[in-house]
Amino acid sequence: ADLPVTVLGLGAMGTALAAATVVAGHPTTVWNRTPGRAGALVAGGAREAVSVRDAVTASPLVVAVLLDHASVHQTLDPVADALAGRTLVNLVTTTPEESRELAAWAGSHGVTYLDGGIMAVPGMIGGPGAEVLYSGSRAAFDAARPVLDTWGESTWFGEDPGLAPLYDLALLAGMYAMFAGFFHGVAMVGTAGVSAGDFARRAAPWLAAMTAELADYADVIDRRDYDAPGQQSLEFSDLSDMVRASEEAGLAPGVVAAVQTLIRRQVEAGHGRDGFARVVESIRTPEPAP
Ligand code: NDP
Repeated sequence: ADLPVTVLGLGAMGTALAAATVVAGHPTTVWNRTPGRAGALVAGGAREAVSVRDAVTASPLVVAVLLDHASVHQTLDPVADALAGRTLVNLVTTTPEESRELAAWAGSHGVTYLDGGIMAVPGMIGGPGAEVLYSGSRAAFDAARPVLDTWGESTWFGEDPGLAPLYDLALLAGMYAMFAGFFHGVAMVGTAGVSAGDFARRAAPWLAAMTAELADYADVIDRRDYDAPGQQSLEFSDLSDMVRASEEAGLAPGVVAAVQTLIRRQVEAGHGRDGFARVVESIRTPEPAP
């Protein structure tokens, strides 16, 4: 059945999400703080609301695709009464704590809350590979599925509204750290005149092959079995050559130096013979400020 939906925020992402619900035939109402961004959507069959209140009251399902946590409050606090009895799907990137705060705010106004983390760029929405992670009200997730599934694969992680942003940001942590490591490698070979493109052709299959190690590291971490035989030791993982080579080449060593700091802390605590995966314990126990 067609499910009326309201999309608040017509930036790059909100526009892509609204376009997908329009194409799927869901009656779609859109609103943007700055008017004039709904043209193509309206031409496709969406209705542009004249105010946030008008937008919120148009649908049982209200999707926020604004900028940040503060912009959600700025937009919705004045119309909390109109949101009562409806479902708010918050797709704005927030921290887990910010999501829990928004869920509590929604609950106090009789609004059902579902949080979402979009694992895609706007051009991927509605196409292969797009995934959105959800947490919060299971009933709201089930009821909204016809709309949610127009964007990508929908996965629900649990009633704790902070879970979706937690997974979202954790996955992005891996992505950004990997990309930063790649950029560091680009800078290193660049000192010998190698182009980033040449390096990328070599680095992509190498990094892809290395992801096969994740499951083994995870197994060690889950069992806290850092001294099990057959692991690459922390001592062997010493990155001082990498740091020195970067400094000798006149590069900022920050990316690899950060990893080296995590390794050194475990070695200095006497765990040098344990496996490399033990660096997770350096992350779990931040060093006290000097
Ligand atoms: P854009 O910068 O393209 O758009 C931001 C939107 O937020 C605009 O509609 C803007 O309205 C609105 N906005 C900003 N501040 C306020 C405010 N105080 N009150 C009301 N509206 C406000 O961002 P995106 O569309 O790319 O991103 C939207 C959300 O989606 C973000 O939280 C982002 O983290 C998340 N996201 C984006 C991804 C991406 O690849 N783009 C991927 C995954 C998540 P106005 O036109 O009036 O400025």
